[in-house]
Amino acid sequence: MTKGRIVGIKRFEIHDGDGIRTTLFLKGCPLKCKWCHNPEAISSKSQVAYLKEKCIGCGECVSVCSAHAHSFFDGKHVYDRNRCVHCGKCVDVCLGDALTLYGREISPKEALKLLTEDGIFYNSSGGGVTLSGGEPLQQADFCMELLKLLKTEGIHTAIDTCGFAGKSDIDKIIDDTDVFLYDIKFYDNKKHIQYTGRTNKPIIENLKYIDIKGKPVEVRIPLVSTINDDQMEPIGRFLATLKHIRKVKLLPYYNFSSSKYAALEMENMLPAVETPDDRQITDAVGILKSFGLNAISGKE
Ligand code: SF4
Ligand code: SF4
Repeated sequence: MTKGRIVGIKRFEIHDGDGIRTTLFLKGCPLKCKWCHNPEAISSKSQVAYLKEKCIGCGECVSVCSAHAHSFFDGKHVYDRNRCVHCGKCVDVCLGDALTLYGREISPKEALKLLTEDGIFYNSSGGGVTLSGGEPLQQADFCMELLKLLKTEGIHTAIDTCGFAGKSDIDKIIDDTDVFLYDIKFYDNKKHIQYTGRTNKPIIENLKYIDIKGKPVEVRIPLVSTINDDQMEPIGRFLATLKHIRKVKLLPYYNFSSSKYAALEMENMLPAVETPDDRQITDAVGILKSFGLNAISGKE
């Protein structure tokens, strides 16, 4: 069985597909979107986040870490991530809740056990399980095995994907995926490369492929002021050529600072742009609707 590396699990989620859902977040993403609010999901490797503001200096981490990644210098706690082998022992004993391990490994059966705990809510609300990330298709074999188990239990399944994947990976999961939640950020490829680091060609081609296969798709568009608000027309024109787009949801980008970048010692590239106001959102929804799409604001 293929093990998956996960960032975490979120229960009682109502924004990741139909009904009440449990979302499993997988680690690793091929894109580097400059507005990403989930830096812990970008690297495919395990990471420990250390929030120094929360450290109460208890020293518990020093005593359990055989890699000597924790120490005290001048009375202050120091974490050396180069020594860390991500065993998670310090996270389990940290009294200040200053440490978080992102990237625990889990088997499909272990994941199924966690996900079926909420089964009663799926049945009563028409919900189910969503695999998200990061990019879940970076771990396509794990997703394939888990989705098969979920379908055997009769659970509705959704994949929340950026679409940057090989066709062979899509083929692994498509039969056991009930709905795709599919991100489109730009139709313009140059802008896509500029703001995500990757071409959007496979993203566009994979969406056409999923559409030909007849799978329902909910498209999600992050609306980032001054960065992709000129993309609604070309995106709308493209989506109007497809047959199985059941909804297009605009997700306004909120410019709040994330402490996760500092906790992971990652460079924060969040753009200093305004949050789209109601007028901008309404205008963008209107453009998408003018192409006959069932467009809505993610704020609704
Ligand atoms: S995760 Fe393990 S190796 Fe890394 S700092 Fe904590 S105890 Fe040490
Ligand atoms: S266990 Fe947590 S709170 Fe205690 S010294 Fe280590 S990081 Fe700080």
